[in-house]
Amino acid sequence: MGSMHTGLEESKNGFEKQAAYFAERAKGGVGLIVTGGVAPNRAGWTSPFGGKLSTKSEAKQHKIITDAVHAEGGKICMQILHTGRYGYHPLAVAPSAIKSPISPFKPWKLSKGGIESTIKDFASCAKLAQEAGYDGVEIMGSEGYLINQFIVSKTNKRTDEWGGAYLNRIKFPIEIVRRTRETVGKNFIIIYRLSMLDLVDDGSTWEEVVHLAKEIEKAGATIINTGIGWHEARVPTIATMVPRGGFSWVTKRMMGQLSIPLITTNRINMPDVANRIIADGHADMISMARPFLADPEFPIKALQGRTDEINTCIGCNQACLDHVFARKTASCLVNPRACNELTINITQAQPKKKIAVVGAGPAGLSCAVTLAQRGHYVHLFEAHGEIGGQFNIAKEIPGKEEFTETLRYYSKQLELHKVEVHLNTHFDEAMVKDFGEIVVAAGVTGRKMNIEGENHPKVLTYTDVVLHKKPVGKTVAIVGAGGIGFDVAEFLTHSGANTVEHFMAEWGVDMEYKKGGALMKTQGNPSPREVYLLQRSKGKLGEGLGKTTGWIHRSALKMKKVKMLNEVTYQKIDDKGLHILVQGKPQVLDVENIVVCAGQVSNNQLYTKLKEKSARVHLIGGALEAGDLDAKRAIEQGVKLGIEL
Ligand code: FAD
Ligand code: NAP
Ligand code: SF4
Repeated sequence: MGSMHTGLEESKNGFEKQAAYFAERAKGGVGLIVTGGVAPNRAGWTSPFGGKLSTKSEAKQHKIITDAVHAEGGKICMQILHTGRYGYHPLAVAPSAIKSPISPFKPWKLSKGGIESTIKDFASCAKLAQEAGYDGVEIMGSEGYLINQFIVSKTNKRTDEWGGAYLNRIKFPIEIVRRTRETVGKNFIIIYRLSMLDLVDDGSTWEEVVHLAKEIEKAGATIINTGIGWHEARVPTIATMVPRGGFSWVTKRMMGQLSIPLITTNRINMPDVANRIIADGHADMISMARPFLADPEFPIKALQGRTDEINTCIGCNQACLDHVFARKTASCLVNPRACNELTINITQAQPKKKIAVVGAGPAGLSCAVTLAQRGHYVHLFEAHGEIGGQFNIAKEIPGKEEFTETLRYYSKQLELHKVEVHLNTHFDEAMVKDFGEIVVAAGVTGRKMNIEGENHPKVLTYTDVVLHKKPVGKTVAIVGAGGIGFDVAEFLTHSGANTVEHFMAEWGVDMEYKKGGALMKTQGNPSPREVYLLQRSKGKLGEGLGKTTGWIHRSALKMKKVKMLNEVTYQKIDDKGLHILVQGKPQVLDVENIVVCAGQVSNNQLYTKLKEKSARVHLIGGALEAGDLDAKRAIEQGVKLGIEL
């Protein structure tokens, strides 16, 4: 299990919470866990008072984690992470005083003495980790953190023995590994996370990466893990549009160069992907991180051939990375229990009731399954012929194919927990009397624009376009630039299969690694349509998209030459097209189609009617509140109501 900062590290009773979180993953069969990054000193903090291990009393607290993992038969390494210039605090240090584009703090340049003491701090941090019962450490040498900053000339402008030529710049990581090995002795795992693909200008060349790997092996590492891309890189490396296992080719280049095992990472989310990577000789070991947030029992299910029961990570980042970047505790969109192991628990219900859940979208599905896991007799009603609600639209968007896995997971859970599913059944007031409790999860419907010409044949809804595949012309205006407007723009401008080669070319990653950083000119397929994306408000389009994925959506549409207009007033639609004012100036967009993505309204009429007849009616998901709705909120509300009733 790869390293992930979850925010539990800094929370109240954080060690107890982490112990429960990691122990559950060990119990689920994870072979080797790596913790989130822990700083070897204050300068290495992620943010003020972040996780640090530099004293014996701090080591004692870590014992709570290691004991819990060992009690479940697991093994655990602690990651030592010095953030360098990525530190979000005024004490940050770096080889040179160059500010990073992703932190407001300019780092202090480390003195020669500072470099010496930082190396010592790494080694003594590892020793303390050993005393705390960890089975090893992972030294974080990638993703653009301090060690990486020493290696690459763009961030290391030193003229002393720690800068200049490549052989000088790599002395820092080599010394850290060498002295760590010296300090911890032979029988302690040292994983070194090596940046094999920097994806920044002036990054290491492939020859340099191989040279460093060999030196790190000589210095005493047990295993080398693959790091892909600095945090400031402008290439998606883990988001859902990255093809599964899309970066294992990088590790494969290193295979055969070393005698210690190599781990590969990034967007490996199902057992067949992992098996294929190993079988194809791309790596010796597989690291997954987010998939274990999504399902702590992933390994056991895989071992027992219960792959269809795995709750698959869909790569959305919405509840994990986006939370961490917003300084909130991580969880998981498809598994709200992740990082809440001490508070969200499925216990057997008493008494067991007959419960109706209306609507099989994400909210209704999560609620029905949770209720059934607790022993209730659950009937799930869905007006359409399949479960999924709006996820059936989302899964059609190129790059969001993973959403299909969530529906496969729920479908299997409904079967396992014997939920009676009534498809093509519109639930109404007449059906109330049979049930002890009723959960209304009737979801949302697309909002209308309320302007002249709204019923013109040019006008389509996002459901018409994405789900019903109604024909769309060569010129299109999309009204509304929220998550769905962006997705529809992607749908309309996409062409070509999402293969690894296509993805790399589109984002300018040179698989032949001709120069350092492996970047080249982007080479995407041109859009089959001319698309306008419009919003009424001021400001950048897509401002409300996910923190860690919004830039990807914006860049992707820019590459497709989508014209983004803000401060738009919609006036009317007629044969000429869409009449608008842009910052007060009239304009007619002569388009063949207008696709309305103007937000949603709640389907709450059923609830209002039922509430008059029965007090035992509950409302969740989009039916409760359409504003700012997403599947994270819908699934979480379903689970939370499910453990209460
Ligand atoms: P819905 O999904 O609307 O489900 C409600 C269900 O209730 C429907 O199946 C409906 O048929 C059924 N129903 C209604 N009335 C009755 C009745 N009387 N009897 C029986 N059945 C009834 N969210 C994210 O978090 N991340 C994303 O990346 C994302 N991408 C999206 C992309 C697209 C293109 C779309 C359209 C949506 C996307 N969403 C995304 C939003 C997400 O799908 C919704 O937030 C979520 O589906 C809401 O869940 P829900 O269960 O409340 O409602
Ligand atoms: P949304 O994000 O609320 O966006 C609605 C858009 O419609 C906005 O651009 C809004 O901007 C515009 N609008 C609102 N009222 C309008 C009106 N009367 N006439 C014309 N335009 C109007 O909603 P959404 O795009 O429908 O998405 C629904 C939810 O699904 C979102 O909240 C989102 O979280 C989730 N989702 C997430 C993702 C993701 O990648 N994370 C992807 C898809 C969906 P103006 O008011 O400025 O015009
Ligand atoms: Fe995966 Fe999304 Fe869960 Fe993060 S929130 S672990 S990306 S499914």
